[in-house]
Amino acid sequence: MSEFEIIKNHFSRDYDRSDINVGVGDDGAILNIDQMIGSQLVVSTDTIVEQTHFPEGTIAGNIAKRAMCINLSDMAGMGALPLWFTLSLTLPGDKANEAWLSEFSSGLFEIASEYNCALIGGDTTKGPLSVTICMFGNIPSDAGLKRSSASVGDIIYLSGSIGASRAALELLSKNGNVSERLLKLFYEPTPMIDLGIKLRDIATSCIDVSDGLVADLGHICRASRVSAIMHLASLPFDEEVKLLFPDKYTEFGLSGGDDYQLCFTVPKHLKGSIESISTQTGITLTAIGEIVEFDHTQSITINGLEDQLNLKGYDHFE
Ligand code: ADP
Ligand code: MG
Repeated sequence: MSEFEIIKNHFSRDYDRSDINVGVGDDGAILNIDQMIGSQLVVSTDTIVEQTHFPEGTIAGNIAKRAMCINLSDMAGMGALPLWFTLSLTLPGDKANEAWLSEFSSGLFEIASEYNCALIGGDTTKGPLSVTICMFGNIPSDAGLKRSSASVGDIIYLSGSIGASRAALELLSKNGNVSERLLKLFYEPTPMIDLGIKLRDIATSCIDVSDGLVADLGHICRASRVSAIMHLASLPFDEEVKLLFPDKYTEFGLSGGDDYQLCFTVPKHLKGSIESISTQTGITLTAIGEIVEFDHTQSITINGLEDQLNLKGYDHFE
């Protein structure tokens, strides 16, 4: 199977969209952006590599879904509406076949079409399995949700629950039984696009939780030059993970990563808006703490947690 056939058979789609003038097939894509006056372009990229981000032998559809979901999650974290993406696929020879590529592209387009996000280009090379997606979205000018504007007194919120992905990875790596539910949370974490968009006018800062709650809230604190206090008892740890790992669920939830929930800050007087967003979207939004004055000795404090010193997130090079 040639590179040309791979691209033509699996990654070329005809989109009936006025924003796409040239998609896959030329040296570059041409996008019509004249409709977007008054908005800003948001760009993000994420790579997943076999054995680093997913176990060897993972089925192709799940690899593609995970790559799409985590990239969409970055758009959610910015409050952006995803529009287009590119795909750089590096494949070992034994995967360049009809069966693997059909599985992969079905998973990819299943998620992409759910979010109306179009594949407009990419690159296909041979080598150890890795998938890089670059995503483009937009926001009304100056409505982007940044990490840098949390204020003292803001309430810290978290969507959904934490710890499930890390627990799934633990079970997968030990060949243990993993429930369908945990597998789905690991391979197909729901990108919080709708929530991000609804938070545009309400949240003072926002981040998608990819490295673990403590690490990612830490990014907000550093960027905003503030500190945070959380309460262990109010953290929404995944109930199934609590039962499976009674000794480890706090660690999984606080520093495990890959949850792809949104952690965001909101001025106290807008608490009611958060309650209505939660009702409208059906997404649980939990108040987990408060932003306080910058404290150089402790950027994050968790009341009720005995061992504060080992709080950290995932770092590839540590
Ligand atoms: P070039 O030689 O200019 O790099 P390629 O042969 O790599 O072109 O790609 C040809 C066309 O196919 C380009 O439009 C490119 O964006 C697209 N393309 C290549 N690989 C992929 C992929 N995995 N997914 C989507 N589009 C792809
Ligand atoms: Mg190329």
